[in-house]
Amino acid sequence: MFLKMHLLMMSTLSRAYIKDLEKIRPSSILDLIHSGETLSVSASARARMPAKRACARCGYVSSMEVCKACVMLVRTGQFLANLKL
Ligand SMILES: [Zn+2]
Repeated sequence: MFLKMHLLMMSTLSRAYIKDLEKIRPSSILDLIHSGETLSVSASARARMPAKRACARCGYVSSMEVCKACVMLVRTGQFLANLKL
């Protein structure tokens, strides 16, 4: 639970940081993507990476059987169904 909260907080802070960078230099996100694409990954690290596959629901690229967007849609639907308005 603590690890999940920590990862969520780090993810939120990272997004906020990137948004701040984009205010200073609009190409920041593209620069970050380019840097990531040029990183070299060792063969042992590459072997541990998840396989690229298609989401079972929408067909979009995902590393899991169902992509995060579809998981969020299902959870949002369940949340709305449980709301008592
Ligand atoms: Zn999907």
